[in-house]
Amino acid sequence: MTKKAVKIELTMAQPDLFVVIANNGKSFVVQQETDLPGLASTFGWDIRALQKNARMGPPCRHGGTDGSIDCPVCKLPVEEFIESARQFLMAHQGSIVSDLGYFDETD
Ligand SMILES: [Zn+2]
Repeated sequence: MTKKAVKIELTMAQPDLFVVIANNGKSFVVQQETDLPGLASTFGWDIRALQKNARMGPPCRHGGTDGSIDCPVCKLPVEEFIESARQFLMAHQGSIVSDLGYFDETD
């Protein structure tokens, strides 16, 4: 079996409705807000860029969360991760990246 490199494109079907289209003809609609941080990470969003107190102390690595739950370390709420991810995704419509696991294709 050979793993094919699948490319995925970020599109929006409506304001606030993200659709990911793969170059193998498949696509999916992002239904859950809590999926936005993971999706944004795939397209290059860095969760560590978001800090509660940017001027205070060393930045939190948010090691205990992927953005779909509150950070257990600095307590940054999940809503802020989601909003940051949403802003990133809206600014990156049309981006194309290598798929990291949404579409696993073998032949
Ligand atoms: Zn944190």
